[in-house]
Amino acid sequence: MFIGHFAPAMVAAVHPKAPGLGTLFVAGQLVDFGFFGLALAGIENFRITPGITKMVPLDLYDMPYTHSLLGSAVWALGFALLIWLFTRNRTGAIIGGAVVLSHWFLDLLVHAPDLTLTGSPPKLGFGLWNHPAIAMPLELAITFGALALFIMKTKAISPKSKYALGLLTVLLLAFQSVNWFGPEPAAADAAMKLTGLFAFTVAAIAAWWLGRTRSLKPI
Ligand SMILES: [Zn+2]
Repeated sequence: MFIGHFAPAMVAAVHPKAPGLGTLFVAGQLVDFGFFGLALAGIENFRITPGITKMVPLDLYDMPYTHSLLGSAVWALGFALLIWLFTRNRTGAIIGGAVVLSHWFLDLLVHAPDLTLTGSPPKLGFGLWNHPAIAMPLELAITFGALALFIMKTKAISPKSKYALGLLTVLLLAFQSVNWFGPEPAAADAAMKLTGLFAFTVAAIAAWWLGRTRSLKPI
């Protein structure tokens, strides 16, 4: 799951007390920001094993701090606390935390059994990455369904809104295409991890821009 993690962010963004769309994009991928960051530091580990799933060659054998349910909950709590400290918006903090936590449950659908509850086995994952005919339409449907909902529930407050929407749409499609159809990474090296972090950051910046050009329609 890549761009699908932004779906909860875009759905959450239509709540009147929600944090901005850029903040919510960071929330949706916070656990993977943490994962690639910890992997760069050698604290969590993965390797490339071609064929381990049909779609994704990642053997995610060591990620107890980010991809356990407990670990995800701690990241969610930390993110919620940060939002609360900066904004004193309790509902917004809870929404941000919930979007962070959604990451684990979306990963649960697609990952091979490599997720845990508390960092040690049993290892969980329903393995839709072995069923591209389900996983690919599912990821596109939730992502662009959520984007359509966000556009329907908001109105443009800047003429630049259409450019921001175009940019975000193109970026999401481009990132997912590279993820699905690009060459398989040769190794779990620093370049690959930095590329992931860079893609998440660029998507969040585009989402931040789109969020700034739109406001919620009155109900
Ligand atoms: Zn993940």
